[in-house]
Amino acid sequence: YGCSAVGTPLEWPEAKKVAQHVREWGIEQLLAIWRRAKGKERDALLWGDEIEYIVVALNDEEHNVKLSLRQADILEALASDPELLKQGGGVPDLARGPVKSGKTAPTFHPEFGRFMLEATPGAPWGIGFKDLLDVEQDMKWRRQIAKDHMDADEFPITMTTFPLLGDRKSITPWFPPSGPRLRSQFVPDEIANPHIRFPTLAANIRARRGRKVELNVPVFHDKQTTWPFSDPTVDYNMHNWPEDDDVRNGAAKENHIYMDAMAFGMGSCCLQITFQAKNIDEGRKMYDQLSPLGPVLLALTAATPIYKGFLADTDVRWNQISRAVDDRTPEELGEKPLKNDRWRIPKSRYASNSTYISQDPRLRPEYLDPDLVIDEKLKDRLVEGGMDDLLATHFAHLFIRDPIVVFSEDLKELDLDKADHFENLQSTNWQHMRFKPPPPGSEIGWRVEVRPMEIQITDFENAAFSVFVVLITRALLSFDLNFYIPITRTTQNMETAHRRDAVLNDMFYFRKDPLPKRPSKTNGASNPPSGSSTPRMHPIIPPDSPVGSVEDEYELMTVDEIINGRADGTFPGLIPLVESYLDSVNVDVETRCELAQYLALIRGRANGSLWTAAKWIRYFVREHKGYNFDSVVSDGIVYDLVKAAERLTVNEGRDGFGKEMLGECRQRR
Ligand code: ADP
Ligand code: MG
Ligand code: MG
Ligand code: MG
Repeated sequence: YGCSAVGTPLEWPEAKKVAQHVREWGIEQLLAIWRRAKGKERDALLWGDEIEYIVVALNDEEHNVKLSLRQADILEALASDPELLKQGGGVPDLARGPVKSGKTAPTFHPEFGRFMLEATPGAPWGIGFKDLLDVEQDMKWRRQIAKDHMDADEFPITMTTFPLLGDRKSITPWFPPSGPRLRSQFVPDEIANPHIRFPTLAANIRARRGRKVELNVPVFHDKQTTWPFSDPTVDYNMHNWPEDDDVRNGAAKENHIYMDAMAFGMGSCCLQITFQAKNIDEGRKMYDQLSPLGPVLLALTAATPIYKGFLADTDVRWNQISRAVDDRTPEELGEKPLKNDRWRIPKSRYASNSTYISQDPRLRPEYLDPDLVIDEKLKDRLVEGGMDDLLATHFAHLFIRDPIVVFSEDLKELDLDKADHFENLQSTNWQHMRFKPPPPGSEIGWRVEVRPMEIQITDFENAAFSVFVVLITRALLSFDLNFYIPITRTTQNMETAHRRDAVLNDMFYFRKDPLPKRPSKTNGASNPPSGSSTPRMHPIIPPDSPVGSVEDEYELMTVDEIINGRADGTFPGLIPLVESYLDSVNVDVETRCELAQYLALIRGRANGSLWTAAKWIRYFVREHKGYNFDSVVSDGIVYDLVKAAERLTVNEGRDGFGKEMLGECRQRR
């Protein structure tokens, strides 16, 4: 989120009245960017990660832990630290662009939750393998700097969610719930970043919906859980706001943990990776090819088994964020006949992707979503402005949404050298992949962001997943891999990834043969591309063979098969593909060994020899002497859990603690 804009945000429904205006100007700004940047070439292959933290305050005497709402103070301390500024760090510096200088200090960013921090490397990483090895140290440096600018009892923790968020008491300083913006039973308005943008975002989403957001997470049915389970924390007798009727109208579902505010989703932490492509075509290809991997990455990084003090029956955060910002009206949701709204919309604005955008002959029309909702008029304008059909469709899909936060000052004149109206829609379409056009007036190129991963407890794991995503991206570009499946299958896979232990027990739709077809007339047709090391698979199909059915191109696979391959050779596996890529380029032995530790973690997660954080945390709770097998995760358990998370980040399993999750071969660096 950009936080620089100051002004007067329009309340709903005033913002609604100017929505079309903002969209049209956004499209004009997009066209201006497109015209200027579509021919941009030879940009460096840069990448960068984002780490999000929750800030907790531990009280060792009272044996409790609270969320600290001191984000603003901590950011202020970071922004005014002369040492940090001297090293180029502290505050975001968008003007710095892609120039990489060896030891630029990390930058810190605000996030939705007033208990959250985000940190990125001070400059993006380059293409070199050495950079891959610097990431982990940089992440540790970031954590240390963050800690150094906090109070002694405060810690930056990389858990996806604070397990007691919404228990009405575990925040410091304390504020009462049920404020005018969120109208939540469980959290105060002060839970959100006070910058006017964030409370307005939450309030306008609620207002557009016509009721509060509604998050129901299935509760984990343990041996002593009262069944059917009715969330005991729901208050059915509140009468502060009209929205207090929501629960009397059935918002809280049986056998579910009920939550009612944006903070329950946007207060979650994730691990994101952004790539700069060498040109727009490569960016479009990366966007498409990484998209089917999203649900697999989500399942592999599963880390979210607790909400509001209860064990959940799901393992990941994704759908909760989706519901936490779901601004669809009853008409758009299909609950009422269409009258005032333009479409029924099948997904929240936070959801898995619904479009492919690459001008790749391998992209068959059957892979696209036949029911994709787009704004035809805006698409026509983009096409008329010179954009190709596929990309115009993508943006015309994002632009079916209303802008949520509109500053009246920005509506006075259209500035084609800015991207504010475009970004208004673009940055509030939170999909699992994001295609980022070059910002006007910068050297930055076309970028692609990978967004599904859950944050991991240790920097070792966060580095491992970052490096894995980088390496698979290199492999797919180098070998021209093809992961296309019908995009609606990715949507289904995303649901599958929520299931408890999906990484071990569930099957995901995945393309059977990712290796490119070689025409048989070429010499050495049976050789895979880029050297002899690519895994050999089934016979190469001759070019004159009939095009098969799309349905025959993919099948259900386990995460283990997708990541590690099949013993019978019918699927190579992403890690073997990465290994082949590493074989095909010059990597020194030492680097290869370091990378091997990261790949070992991913391999272990996929084959079940190493646990996900979700499994580890669930096990920790169920083994805890304070747990009564009734799904309730008490304050005392959460205190011990956060202490455990802190111990894991420091020792990374070297003391034997957490080795089920981290492995035993982690070397001291
Ligand atoms: P957002 O929150 O909008 O996704 P951030 O600025 O928080 O964006 O993070 C973007 C990430 O992209 C950071 O890791 C940053 O280092 C990285 N990055 C910045 N510029 C480039 C670039 N030109 N190419 C690739 N990555 C970049
Ligand atoms: Mg960011
Ligand atoms: Mg963020
Ligand atoms: Mg991001």
